[in-house]
Amino acid sequence: MKPAPFMYLAPTTRQEAIDALRQYGPEAKVLAGGQSLVPLLAMRLARPSVIIDLNRAPDLAFIRSTQTGLTIGAMTRQRVAETDPIIAARAPLLAESLRWVGHPQIRTRGTIGGSLAHADPSAELPAVAELLGARFVLASARGERVLDAKRFFLGYLTTALAPDELLTQVRLLAQPPDAGWAFYEVARRHGDFALVGVAALVRMDGDGRCVAVRLAFTGVGGGPVRVSEAEAAVTGKRVTDMTAAEAARIVEGALDPDSDIHASAAYRRHVAGVLAARALMQAARRAGSVT
Ligand SMILES: Cc1cc2nc3c(=O)[nH]c(=O)nc-3n(C[C@H](O)[C@H](O)[C@H](O)COP(=O)(O)OP(=O)(O)OC[C@H]3O[C@@H](n4cnc5c(N)ncnc54)[C@H](O)[C@@H]3O)c2cc1C
Repeated sequence: MKPAPFMYLAPTTRQEAIDALRQYGPEAKVLAGGQSLVPLLAMRLARPSVIIDLNRAPDLAFIRSTQTGLTIGAMTRQRVAETDPIIAARAPLLAESLRWVGHPQIRTRGTIGGSLAHADPSAELPAVAELLGARFVLASARGERVLDAKRFFLGYLTTALAPDELLTQVRLLAQPPDAGWAFYEVARRHGDFALVGVAALVRMDGDGRCVAVRLAFTGVGGGPVRVSEAEAAVTGKRVTDMTAAEAARIVEGALDPDSDIHASAAYRRHVAGVLAARALMQAARRAGSVT
């Protein structure tokens, strides 16, 4: 199939894009990398009458180091972020997770903002954004607002973005230099969306005990899912095979994923537990301590 007819606008600045959204918001869709939107248009699952192409607005693509972390422009290509030295130094969890997103060809076009705005529950970036304390900057002709992940991700393919709003940038906290991290997922074929994925961040004290543990899962709910009971079970302890197995058991019991044609809920729960244990061990190793 081919897309239904639409009017095509190509703003050359962030402000022009916001002006176009003010004029056409409810009937328009912004086009970022097109890796999710173009198939939807081609199948006529989305039929906007206006396309606002962001690809000619260079002021939406940047990576900046800040005092507390980094700021990434929405139109930054996933592949650029994956190989960026600032991200490698300050948020290696993000760089690692990006390697799991589709294939290099997709990441070369796909953008950080497009993935976050699309909010696929199996996508890697929402879980990483949740762990790195993301702040989403939403701009419109009415002004700007800044939301955290809990207020930005509202459920399956749904965010707080209003029809006239543009996601312009995401602000992330830098990982503490002594934090260990890991990202694992299971997909049916390399490059497919994950059946289940997990992002982990761990900090240890000088004695090898966890002082902070964060786990965020993809593919097991409408958006990124934290399991605070599993995080609490590891906090204050050394990461051993036994503590990792205990965390896995809690994760399996706490998650409530759906079954679909790709995997049953029971399989997803089991995989989430296995991946949680693996991610905890790897993160603790990188933080310099596994007993
Ligand atoms: C074969 C294949 C495999 C893939 N595998 C994975 C995978 O494993 N993991 C994964 O996470 N993704 C995967 N993707 C999707 C890919 O990551 C996309 O790049 C991403 O979902 C959308 O980013 P985009 O820049 O292409 O956005 P687009 O497709 O251009 O846009 C997606 C949606 O977001 C909206 N949007 C985009 N930017 C903004 C903005 N700045 N403000 C407001 N709204 C905006 C658009 O209007 C549209 O509704 C895959 C895609 C393909 C084709």
